[in-house]
Amino acid sequence: MKRTLQQIARWLGAESRPGWEEIIVTGASIDTRTLREGDLFIPFKGEQADGHRFAGQAFEKGASATLWQEGVPGAPEDRPVLFVTDPEQALQQMARSYRDELDAVFIGITGSNGKTSTKDLVAGVLSPYFNVRKTEGNFNNELGLPLTILSLEEDTQYAVLEMGMSGFGEISFLSELARPAFAVITNIGEAHLQDLGSREGIAKAKSEITDGLQRGGRLFYDGDEPLLAPHARKLTEGTAVPFGRGPECALRLESVEASESGSRFRTSGLISGEFEIPVLGAHQAKNALAAILIGTEAGLSPDRIRTALRDVSLTGMRMQTVEGPSGSLFINDAYNAAPASVRAALDFVRSSKLRSEKWVVLGDMLELGSLEQSAHEGLADDLDPADFDGVCLFGPRMEALHRKLEGRFPEGRLVWSGEDLSPVTRKLSERLPNRPLILLKGSRGMALERILQQPDIQ
Ligand code: ATP
Ligand code: MG
Repeated sequence: MKRTLQQIARWLGAESRPGWEEIIVTGASIDTRTLREGDLFIPFKGEQADGHRFAGQAFEKGASATLWQEGVPGAPEDRPVLFVTDPEQALQQMARSYRDELDAVFIGITGSNGKTSTKDLVAGVLSPYFNVRKTEGNFNNELGLPLTILSLEEDTQYAVLEMGMSGFGEISFLSELARPAFAVITNIGEAHLQDLGSREGIAKAKSEITDGLQRGGRLFYDGDEPLLAPHARKLTEGTAVPFGRGPECALRLESVEASESGSRFRTSGLISGEFEIPVLGAHQAKNALAAILIGTEAGLSPDRIRTALRDVSLTGMRMQTVEGPSGSLFINDAYNAAPASVRAALDFVRSSKLRSEKWVVLGDMLELGSLEQSAHEGLADDLDPADFDGVCLFGPRMEALHRKLEGRFPEGRLVWSGEDLSPVTRKLSERLPNRPLILLKGSRGMALERILQQPDIQ
């Protein structure tokens, strides 16, 4: 972006000191470690540290100006400063104002699982044909989203934004801020069940994404999730478009076929065709339906969408295939884990014909609160020895699942280790000569991708 300090002051209803009106601001930053020259520095008064203390550092790194919370002492005298009552609200207001001055089509993506994957797929379909920008990493909350908007270049035609939440009202806020023309709800899982009370609560919270939907806009949602239907029905006829496997879905996923390089699938309904994506799993093919729908809204032919989808680049560690030693094949899905995404990954491995021997390595699922034990134990029903040759469990929380599975898997086919990863890697290395398919799936904190670096797996 390129705005004068005076323009920003106007957005915020703040005063810029005389003499500094014409200073050019080219971005916004809340962290001096990643601040770029020309950025407006936005300090927060946190519980741990007070960002105002870093304003000097921000100027040393080339900040064009800084916001400053009224009443906080020590504002630099000889620097461009804008005084505001609340820097966080000011950041959000700046994003709102900048968004209104952009011509881009905004797309908001939420859901319990698959937001980042779907964001990559949607951006990937549009990128070869338009100027597309998307959320980097997980910048999907009340700070990340406004920062993402402020980082958009003026020539952006499509802005693909991930929207995350942990409670009611948050998605509504993000949606009102971004005012998307298209919104996507990927699925409803169990994440944040504690905060929201029930899966119905989660569905309600995700459905808030339509609060800021532009008139004439569209909601594309998981048509296989009955809890979303009542919310979809509240919208003007034709606004809500379900996608998925069920017969009522407007765009349907028919067959999905996996290869070592990704998935090929057929669609029917609104668009019938064959598509390929460089990632495994029927759930990822389903995410691609949202991308096909949005590509179609953007005026792209199925052919152009097909070409773009084939070369989509996805953020790593989501159903990513990695060739292992001795012809083994790993599926690195170790970015994160919650019950719904573990089941989706297990479904893939269960039905996969990529290899005859199949192992799954499951790491602890974190942040499940009081559901922790039942969620881990509950996976026992998904792990049938008829479907999987062996299971390795890693982490203290997996002990509960281990107890459930003991006696069900033959000798040597079930491993549990609480702290030390080596019993797991030792077992896997023993199996490598059989060219197995090995799923790696666990919460971020478990960092199961480390397995790929262990000497016995090289
Ligand atoms: P976060 O909340 O951490 O930002 P996210 O919603 O952005 O997560 P991704 O990072 O895309 O989700 O994927 C997280 C995990 O969920 C991955 O293991 C991925 O394979 C799986 N996943 C992706 N799409 C779906 C889906 N539609 N249903 C279930 N699981 C999915
Ligand atoms: Mg994400």
